[in-house]
Amino acid sequence: MKELELYRDYKFAEKVKKLIWRYANVLRSRGLKVIKLMNFCGTHEWTTVHYGLRSLMPEGVELVAGPGCPVCITPSLCVEHAIKLSLEGVTVYTFGDAYRLPATREVAGARSLREARAMGGSVKVVYSFMDAVKDSKTQGGEAVFLAIGFETTAPGYAIPLARGLVPRNLKLLPALRLTPPAARHAILAAVERGLEPVRGIIAPGHVSTVTGAEPWDKLSRELGLPSVISGFEPLDLMLSVAMLLRMLYQKRVGVEIEYRRLVTWKGNTLAKRFISEVFQVSDAAWRGLGVIPDSGLELRGPYTSYDAYREYGLKLPDGKEDMPSGCRCADVIMGLARPVECPLFMKACTPSKPYGPCMVSSEGTCAIWARFGGGGLAKRVAEEVGL
Ligand code: SF4
Repeated sequence: MKELELYRDYKFAEKVKKLIWRYANVLRSRGLKVIKLMNFCGTHEWTTVHYGLRSLMPEGVELVAGPGCPVCITPSLCVEHAIKLSLEGVTVYTFGDAYRLPATREVAGARSLREARAMGGSVKVVYSFMDAVKDSKTQGGEAVFLAIGFETTAPGYAIPLARGLVPRNLKLLPALRLTPPAARHAILAAVERGLEPVRGIIAPGHVSTVTGAEPWDKLSRELGLPSVISGFEPLDLMLSVAMLLRMLYQKRVGVEIEYRRLVTWKGNTLAKRFISEVFQVSDAAWRGLGVIPDSGLELRGPYTSYDAYREYGLKLPDGKEDMPSGCRCADVIMGLARPVECPLFMKACTPSKPYGPCMVSSEGTCAIWARFGGGGLAKRVAEEVGL
């Protein structure tokens, strides 16, 4: 059987499920009644909910979502800057999901780039940074790219900049973030609040194709937890859960790689070289989470001439007061609350009319739960909390 076919094989899925239940039973007999595992990445949450994986977990094994949605954590101030520039005639390029991302404060009557365009703002939705590079070369006027993303997206900006492909009229409004520091922040937040601690991390597969497994190993050892880098098929995630439970059973910390089809220990060294040539690591604001040390990328050296913050004298986000009133995204992205525990979920906030940032992207936990029903869990939790 070819390797990929194995990820669609229901008999293999049954075996993995049995393994999960067996390890969970042994751990329960050792007194570990609740085993909270954080699936850091929004795409993992999508797979978990879309395929109903929570319904396959034994009692006590809880999969909670983490802050791995770049749209959800982009500070409101970045969106506000982009809206303002677009209304002043600067062409703003953006990805499709960030186009709908609501800011906390209105700018000249607009709360998102979509609304800004409806009001005559100059906003263009593109599929990649290179599309913006090509278009801005042709159109020639002042232009800005709302550069959101994690380590996976960073090479897409770094390589054209390092190769001198980006025209001088196109600037970047960087909102690039690094994932392991945010995972640490979310895991420690549960401990600080006296909540059930996270026992293991399902680490992001696509980020790790660039970074390699090393940063997750370092984080896991620092926090004394196991982590497993997972692929995105439902069976990838099931296997990752089984591997985490086995590591807990064996009392091992550090990282294991489930997504060996693409992830190596060192990652993509060429992409990493380009990233460090163009960017440097900095403290950065995450929407709802505040400033997290060493969790962002800012332009460095000669590349700062492409920085829209510098060019237009814009204030850097400080992460304060960054959620719309009543929105619980800050807790949702740290795995401390489920979407249905937000009183606005599917009332004042829906996928067609998002109020908070987690309801926009296909990687946003609230948007996923709204579309697929939380894998059956949404209804149960809603009953529990009396909604
Ligand atoms: Fe925020 Fe909407 Fe999610 Fe509530 S349902 S936490 S308002 S995104």
